[in-house]
Amino acid sequence: MDHLIDETQQYLMNTYTRQPLVIHKGRGTRVYDPDGKEYLDFVGGVAVNNLGHCHPSVTVAFQKQAQRLVHVSNLYYTEPQVKLAQLLVEHSFADKVFFCNSGTEAIEAAIKLVRKHSHDTHGPDRHEIITMERSFHGRTLAAVTATAQPKYHEGFEPLVPGFRYVPYNDLKAVAKAVTDRTAAVLVEPVQGEGGVRIPDDDYLPGLRKLCDEKGLLLILDEVQTGIGRTGKMFCYEHYGIEPDVMALAKGLGSGLPIGALLAKDHVAKAFTPGTHAATFGGNPLACAAAIATLEVLLEEGFVLDNCRRMGAYFVERLKGLQLRHSSIVSVRGMGLMVGMELTIDGKPIVQDCLEAGILINCTMDRVLRFVPPLIILKEDIDLLIDRLDAILKKRTG
Ligand SMILES: *Cc1c(COP(=O)(O)O)cnc(C)c1O
Repeated sequence: MDHLIDETQQYLMNTYTRQPLVIHKGRGTRVYDPDGKEYLDFVGGVAVNNLGHCHPSVTVAFQKQAQRLVHVSNLYYTEPQVKLAQLLVEHSFADKVFFCNSGTEAIEAAIKLVRKHSHDTHGPDRHEIITMERSFHGRTLAAVTATAQPKYHEGFEPLVPGFRYVPYNDLKAVAKAVTDRTAAVLVEPVQGEGGVRIPDDDYLPGLRKLCDEKGLLLILDEVQTGIGRTGKMFCYEHYGIEPDVMALAKGLGSGLPIGALLAKDHVAKAFTPGTHAATFGGNPLACAAAIATLEVLLEEGFVLDNCRRMGAYFVERLKGLQLRHSSIVSVRGMGLMVGMELTIDGKPIVQDCLEAGILINCTMDRVLRFVPPLIILKEDIDLLIDRLDAILKKRTG
């Protein structure tokens, strides 16, 4: 096991800070190291394994597809691709879908689509996109420019022109930033990497209204919040509004790499043959996994129901912990996207949890982030709470 860690350092570029754990196998809410030691997984592949590890319906779907056809490119038609697009359209605001391979690619495609749409309708001067401080939209040059966090920009300048940053959850700031060059507003319904920040109830409806009044497009980055994470298939459903454009990825393929850009017809028509493409985009294997994922979520309503119930229970238990530990600043959650902000560094807590057999994640240095599979049980949450209680006691005396 140690040799894998050494060899990773030898052969892979040093872009990740990894936990000292080799994962060999996963089932449901548990993963296992090569010696068979079990870990309870509250990271879920960073909000990807929404149905848990190796869900049988998904596994069978892509095993079958792997035996039939894996890839042919978009020079031809394939059934899984159109079937997945139809499912997404029938269960969302969108009329049309474009497939790619990741969240950052879906954002990149959204930026290109919005620019092209604005260019076609208003000419080249109206191309600016307003994005939010502490956002996270991915790592390609345009997506990282949209990501309004200096730490992700350093050393990569010059960035892509055409972005303006405003504070999150501040409608007035957005209204003030709009000019005759503004084409769109890009926002996460709940900020994920930014520390599980949930905006006020009137924020998204307010953005929708502002966009309508000023003739701007509203782009939602639901890469993390989508596919059931917040207790609805898409987070915007909580707010009674619809975006014009939406990016999906993470949970969509249950771990198979797939991203999707969704849009209303009047926007989508800006993409014409040759304007955008992805060789692997919408390949049959990834689409088969995504179809199976959506079918489980749509047909087995108990997964979304479980997400809502366990999310509420989890937040209640964490708030109980907060009463006993002054090191806990706040507890925030929507469905099973849950954050707990601390006064102390989160890294050692993540380490202690690992030693106690639980995987958790920390973002923004002091926010513990929990994005477990949506099939998590009450006992799993109880176990985490017990361990966290002991760990916080030890760490803060
Ligand atoms: C993870 C994430 C991305 C980037 O997705 P990748 O698949 O890592 O490229 C973009 N936006 C949000 C909100 C995310 O959480």
